[in-house]
Amino acid sequence: DVPPMPKGTLVTADQAEAQRRGLMLVLSSPSGAGKSTIARMLLEREKGLELSISVTTRPRRSYEEDGVHYHFVSQERFFEMREAGELLEWAEVHGNYYATPRAPVEAAIQSGRDILFDIDIKGTFQLYEKMRPDVVSIFVLPPSIEDMKKRLRGRGEDADDVILRRMETAVGEMRHWVNYDYVVVNEVLDRAYEAVRAILRAERHKQARSAAIGPFIDGMVEDLQDALKG
Ligand code: 5GP
Repeated sequence: DVPPMPKGTLVTADQAEAQRRGLMLVLSSPSGAGKSTIARMLLEREKGLELSISVTTRPRRSYEEDGVHYHFVSQERFFEMREAGELLEWAEVHGNYYATPRAPVEAAIQSGRDILFDIDIKGTFQLYEKMRPDVVSIFVLPPSIEDMKKRLRGRGEDADDVILRRMETAVGEMRHWVNYDYVVVNEVLDRAYEAVRAILRAERHKQARSAAIGPFIDGMVEDLQDALKG
């Protein structure tokens, strides 16, 4: 509901930003591709981007904080939220449940803030079904299987059988790379980060997301026409 632009006014970059619809940036990858590191860098360095904090029934890892990395909930609570329609998407991963709470996402995109998702492929497909025009998806690939194993072991948090299971999952997930809008190979971290940032920056300027500044632009065109007549 942007009022028509008063004569002689400019469309400032800030106005355009404020009137834009926020986007949903989905970063997916097999575990061990360095996706979490890229996500952390983006959140630290990009203004106007926040993380969607998922709910999960998985036990908390030692370095994780409730309400920061996840909202850790019981299975009972999870099912309650699902029944109540509070979840935008959900999935079972390695025997635990994960989901995206709906309300914070809707609030963010309506007020022009972007939201970052660290979710799996099943979740991404559900977001496509419900929110496709708002979703921008990036698949982050490890440069090699050796590299991936190294990263998984380096984390030192998971037992060998868990790592094996994650690698099996990864094989299945990597087949889906064609379903993503963008693909980034994380061989050199800074380069992968720059690619992801460039995608975000470009997507923010998509015409469809800026539809709300249409009346400003129309006003400018009218001003220009008046000026030419006079
Ligand atoms: P982890 O247990 O290592 O934190 O996450 C395991 C997997 O669950 C990762 O692939 C992660 O992307 C995925 N995941 C985390 N949160 C969500 C969520 O809210 N929804 C879905 N669909 N997947 C999630």
